[in-house]
Amino acid sequence: MTSPKTVLVTGGNRGIGYAIATEFKNAGHNVCITYRSGEPPAEFFSVKADVTDTASIDAAFKEIEAEFGPVEVLVANAGITKDTLLMRMSEEDFTSVIDTNLTGAFRVVKRATKGMLKLKRGRVILISSVVGLYGGMGQVNYSSSKAALVGMARSITRELGSRNITANVIAPGFIQTEMTDVLPQETKKQYVNSIPAKRFAQPEEVAQVVRWIASDEASYISGAVIPVDGGLGMGH
Ligand code: NDP
Repeated sequence: MTSPKTVLVTGGNRGIGYAIATEFKNAGHNVCITYRSGEPPAEFFSVKADVTDTASIDAAFKEIEAEFGPVEVLVANAGITKDTLLMRMSEEDFTSVIDTNLTGAFRVVKRATKGMLKLKRGRVILISSVVGLYGGMGQVNYSSSKAALVGMARSITRELGSRNITANVIAPGFIQTEMTDVLPQETKKQYVNSIPAKRFAQPEEVAQVVRWIASDEASYISGAVIPVDGGLGMGH
């Protein structure tokens, strides 16, 4: 096993983020999560933070750094949907999703890479979605936010690649979490039909890929978009 790394997963209290945090914890790393609401899970070092609020992000990093030193692996996972058709989408529906999914990722990435530069190593992992490049009905806001993460990872790669820092995008397809539980049964059936694997995935199937991309084995992968989607987005 490699030496323990300090890992931060935003939105690690549930869903895919929780599975990612658990995967790193089981691999022996120092795992910190941010949670926004409710009670955090007891098994991680949990700090309350809202990715739409720069001051709360800074305070969270200060707490983590005081306990474990700089964050070496950042998983920008926190995200929301506010689905509705373009004609009904308000500007607030659009900007609030961008503020959480895209600007939220920017806020944590900017804060985390400061520490990575000091450490002289780091891994930035952005949780995007198949919908970023595939598009989605009623998801002009969400799809835009997730597509932009590709440009973000690639620009970070160009800026910080020579400093032993990689930045990659994970693009999950349909994963069984509270985010997809709310979809109507008929919609879920249609999605399953269009997925070559003919099923939704479990959060752990995403988590294992995230853990690997953060590992020493993946040291020469940067600016990549790695699909975990059962073949749904092939060719995009
Ligand atoms: P969930 O809705 O289950 O969890 C979302 C997490 O993000 C929660 O921890 C939530 O905190 C947190 N969060 C939301 N807004 C903020 C905020 N402003 N500040 C801090 N934390 C926030 O979603 P999933 O686990 O399904 O999704 C996780 C990521 O994976 C998201 O980025 C999503 O877009 C992406 N994804 C999901 C797919 C799926 O099929 N489920 C497919 C492709 C991508 P709280 O508990 O307080 O609400």
